This record gives sequence, structure tokens and C-alpha cells, in this order.
Amino acid sequence: MVDATGALALPWLVAPLRDLLQRQQAHALLLHGPQGVGQFELAIALAQGWLCEAESSDARPCGRCASCKLVQARSHPDLLVLVPEAMQSQLGWGANDDDAPTDRAAKGKPSQEIKVDAVRRAVAFAQITSGRGRGKVVVMHPAERMNGIAANTLLKTLEEPPGSARFVLSSAAPDALLPTIRSRCQAVAMTPPAAADAMAWLAAQGVADAAVLLAATGQQPQEALVWSQEGVDAASWSRLPALVAQGGAETLAGWPLPRVIDALQKLCHDSACVAAGAAPRYFPATAIARGADLAALNAWRAELTRVARNAEHPWNAPLLIESLVQQGRQALARTGLARRGVSVHSRP
Ligand SMILES: [Zn+2]
Repeated sequence: MVDATGALALPWLVAPLRDLLQRQQAHALLLHGPQGVGQFELAIALAQGWLCEAESSDARPCGRCASCKLVQARSHPDLLVLVPEAMQSQLGWGANDDDAPTDRAAKGKPSQEIKVDAVRRAVAFAQITSGRGRGKVVVMHPAERMNGIAANTLLKTLEEPPGSARFVLSSAAPDALLPTIRSRCQAVAMTPPAAADAMAWLAAQGVADAAVLLAATGQQPQEALVWSQEGVDAASWSRLPALVAQGGAETLAGWPLPRVIDALQKLCHDSACVAAGAAPRYFPATAIARGADLAALNAWRAELTRVARNAEHPWNAPLLIESLVQQGRQALARTGLARRGVSVHSRP
């Protein structure tokens, strides 16, 4: 959203935001693009722009009017933000006293879905007259987290939004949405920022060697910032292939399991690329050795895919990581990285 100085947190959204505010008349929008490009931030800034009370439309969202301040305080009466319970604290949006406690009591952990009750609330919200007279906005993120019942509940309202209501759905996986939902929305495709813009932004956030983390996260600047804040730096990322080739899992021990699996999948991918004579994508070229065993890499990839699909399974994380790393070691064992290492497990 736009802060009190009039600045957007993600500078590459400035141009798309202005364009949408000037041209977009649709009552239901679907903002989609790769993970981490800033769909949710753009959706909130767009809502803020529509609700802003600055006199000049060119100045909206101004960041300073009463309406903008209410958006900043996450308490605007004409803005409803629906996000899964599991993402509410991370995003700082969408907490709703009506549903959270019972959900938690019933299931024990926060829901990953946008539930039908929340969608019903949004439909009812859209039908109430705007409190401040500039319309009403419902933001849903990530929209593909609506289950089938929730999506069907939304269909009719999307087709004929009541009065002044507008819906903004944001998604990194629009193909996972019901086709009937997609067809009722004006699609707006977002592209990742240019590498130079992303690196400048990361450098301004204090991230050193931003290019390495940007590649590590598949060119997702927001994700790169989170990794950096959680202690992943260019040096530890670049060291990872050699460690795995030696069967060492210590770097991975403090990481959350989904990130470990993601990192090993990227290592497996890059090792296969280099073995086939192509350039790696996620690791520096100097960090990936030639000569990995392709059959063993394939088996490793299949196992990583299987584990990733069952990420919700109550794994014993340390044992699982050890087993995945050992499988990786076998695939990488004959590479130069393993031979160069000081603590290679020797085989008779
Ligand atoms: Zn304003």
C-alpha cells in the first residue's frame, strides 16, 4: 500500500498501479503473475487508490487522506481483505474475529483455504452501501485457495457485482481457479521486475550479493528479502552444493522443511542442467560441478517431488533431511565437488 510519504513498498508496482487506476473500469479483476511479483501489494494499493479521497484523481492513492489512513490502519470500513487464516499474520491482513477461534479449536492449525463462510461474508459486504461514499472493495488472495464451494458462492456476485462494489482477486496460479471464476474477471498479467530494479530494491533493503539470492529464489525479490532476513546469505547458498555432495546436512538443519526441499530440488535441477551441458539457474555456475550421475539424479528428483507433494505430512524433519541429503550425495558423489571436499565419506 502507499504509505504516508506517498511511496509504494515495491517500486516496480508504481507504473502498473497508475495504469490500472487510469484505465481499468472492470468490477472484477484478476491480478496474476509469478509468485512474489507483488500481486497482493498491487491489489491493496489499487483498493487504496479507488477509496482515496484526494481531490485530484492523479494523486490517488495519496497516503495522507482519512481514507488512506484507514487502509494503512487496516480498518477501512469499505475494504474487506480475505486471505487464508494461515497467511494472516505474515501479510498482516484479513484477521477476522468471527471465524478464527472456532477454526483453530476444530482443526488445531490455521486453515490454508479461503473458506465458504468468508466468501459469504464478502458477498454480504458487497451489498451494503459504502460507508465513506467511494464504493466498496473486496480483495481475495491467493484467489486459488478458494475451494469449489467457496468459488461457486462467489460466481453470481462476480457476474453482477452489486452497486459500487469491486472485486480484486490476486493469484500466482490462475490455472488453479475455476474457469467460471476466471471468465468473469478482467485478467491483468503482471511480470517480474527487471533484474536491475529488483537488485536495486534488495540492496536498498540491506541485502548483500543480491544477485545470488535473486537467482536462488527464481527471480522473486520479495522471497529473496525474506531469505536474507532469515539468515540465508550468498555464501551459505553457494556452499550448499558442495556440502550436499559430501553428505553434509548441517547448513540445512535450521531451515524450515519446505525450504530444504525447495533448495534440494533446485540443486537437483541445476546439477541435471550442468550434466547436460546447460547453464544452472539457481546456483552460481562455479558452485555446480559436472559429472553428476543422471540416473541417480532422476531418482532423487522423484523422491523430492514425492516429499514436496506431501509437505503437510507430519514428517520427522531431521531424519527426512538426512535421508534426502544422502540420496543427493549419491547422485553428486562422482562430481568434482565431492572429490575436492575435505570430508568426503570414503568408500572402499
Ligand atoms: Zn488518500
